[in-house]
Amino acid sequence: MTGRARGKVMISIEECKGCGLCVESCPPKCLFLALELSAYGVHPAHYTGQDCTGCGICFYCCPEPGAVTVYRLVPPTKAMTSQLQGADYAPPV
Ligand code: SF4
Ligand code: SF4
Repeated sequence: MTGRARGKVMISIEECKGCGLCVESCPPKCLFLALELSAYGVHPAHYTGQDCTGCGICFYCCPEPGAVTVYRLVPPTKAMTSQLQGADYAPPV
């Protein structure tokens, strides 16, 4: 899957127990278990860095409190888009 990410997920390696539930449940498959072991001797989950939709499924299925944090990214408003493009005002709708 490609396109602008609508979310971002952060995994706490200290809290993750490497069960893989988030990896299996993520619809766009943007999580994976690292090859390296954590200090606890498990393969912690990682975010690929793209395609997260911010759906939160990984958060709800994770049995470890504090292991998963999901951020929903806010799309830019028309005013913000105009500023980015150097326009003086937002065009009428
Ligand atoms: S569900 Fe939670 S504990 Fe299991 S691999 Fe994912 S982040 Fe780690
Ligand atoms: S919030 Fe949804 S899309 Fe993003 S990593 Fe979690 S399950 Fe996958």
